[in-house]
Amino acid sequence: MRISEILKSREPHISFEIFPPKTDAGFESVIHAADQIAELRPSYISVTYGAGGGTSKNTVKIASHIKHNKNVTSLAHLTCVSSTKDMVHKVIDELKEQGIENVLALRGDIPQDSEFPLPNHYRYASELIEDIRSRGDFCIGAACYPEGHVETEHKADDILNLKHKVDCGVDFLTTQMFFDNSILYNFLYRIREKGITVPVVPGIMPVTSAKQIKRIGFLSGTMLPQRFLAVVDRFGDDPEAMKQAGIAYATDQIIDLFANGVNHVHVYSMNKPEVAEAIMKNLSQIVKA
Ligand code: FAD
Repeated sequence: MRISEILKSREPHISFEIFPPKTDAGFESVIHAADQIAELRPSYISVTYGAGGGTSKNTVKIASHIKHNKNVTSLAHLTCVSSTKDMVHKVIDELKEQGIENVLALRGDIPQDSEFPLPNHYRYASELIEDIRSRGDFCIGAACYPEGHVETEHKADDILNLKHKVDCGVDFLTTQMFFDNSILYNFLYRIREKGITVPVVPGIMPVTSAKQIKRIGFLSGTMLPQRFLAVVDRFGDDPEAMKQAGIAYATDQIIDLFANGVNHVHVYSMNKPEVAEAIMKNLSQIVKA
């Protein structure tokens, strides 16, 4: 099913995310995690893609498995930053062959150790979106950043770039994680004011270990509010307590989003079926399968 159709529903919905293994050796355990998450009947499962393209074949394989073997809608991520157009076109053709109609089109992070952009290849996600649009009838999603993308100095410029990207053919947006919902509400107000009208799916990350937090701050420049830091201060040294508190914090964010008119939340479940399951259990009377 096209995600743009799923997002028309006014009922609360949850989707989850899987990332492919770095090597083929980890393939079976990722499939096992995907199967367990699929059993929870989320509205869709997204499968991430390595910026360097190294996990590309596994992204398509896993997305295809979720769709055809588990009967759950899948969303295949596709990045372009380190790929030639030929490489990207090959993946688009594979997605078509596998009947995967939903693609999250991304630039990917700029590689530190190689030339960027490759001559005559992709510089921004918007170029990839135009390319996907011209090569098939896909439902296309893209990324957005409620706190602004790290490379853009002024948030206003980031929103102008986002408007251009959406106008290139985006059907829906998924946000970077955030830990304070007021950041999302403010962002929605600003983008709607600039004429960006496509559905926006907020992305929520359940933080289940203190180690994860250091990575988040470093990678995305995400603001960590005092209320969140107090949870980590109190429970960060106790893995089981931190896991429970992190799931509760994410659940609280999700309930607040639903209460404020959001109908669909994407959970960065990080190949952890037990985390996805705990969230679904917490929402069992809110999100009806
Ligand atoms: P773009 O939309 O191209 O934006 C990148 C930067 O360029 C921004 O600062 C933007 O403001 C600026 N910009 C855009 N267009 C223009 C223009 N015309 N002129 C000037 N400046 C411009 N990474 C992965 O490697 N694999 C994944 O699977 C993956 N999944 C993700 C899923 C989500 C929901 C999110 C939020 C991020 C994901 N990422 C993933 C990370 C993403 O690839 C990086 O954040 C990357 O740095 C930016 O990608 P983008 O598609 O947002 O880029």
